[in-house]
Amino acid sequence: MQQQTIAGIGNIYANEILFRVGLHPNARANRLSRLKIERLYQVTREVLQHAIACGGSSVKDFFAPDGTEGRYKQHHLVYGKEGKPCPNGCGQVIRRLQSERSSFYCPTCQKLRSLKDHSV
Ligand SMILES: [Zn+2]
Repeated sequence: MQQQTIAGIGNIYANEILFRVGLHPNARANRLSRLKIERLYQVTREVLQHAIACGGSSVKDFFAPDGTEGRYKQHHLVYGKEGKPCPNGCGQVIRRLQSERSSFYCPTCQKLRSLKDHSV
């Protein structure tokens, strides 16, 4: 997950947001159309607001101060879902891209487009 794509957003949420927007984890932020950027902004707000309402994700070591687990992980569509069917029903399975951090994505719904093809 490149920090240029979504600066300062946790890996889990970045994975979830990119899936919902249909952007490949290696998509370059400076190649995005205005429409995609607006969509990204909108989905980022929705996902973060939803996650906050659920008390976070509690995937590894984060718990609320009272020790309760966040419930947002029940709403994860791709994060930690390697090998599971794509929630969009495209027939593909969720893949894991390993770099500094793991990125979970659907290779069909989140194609890395050629440089020319970023107009939509
Ligand atoms: Zn898919």
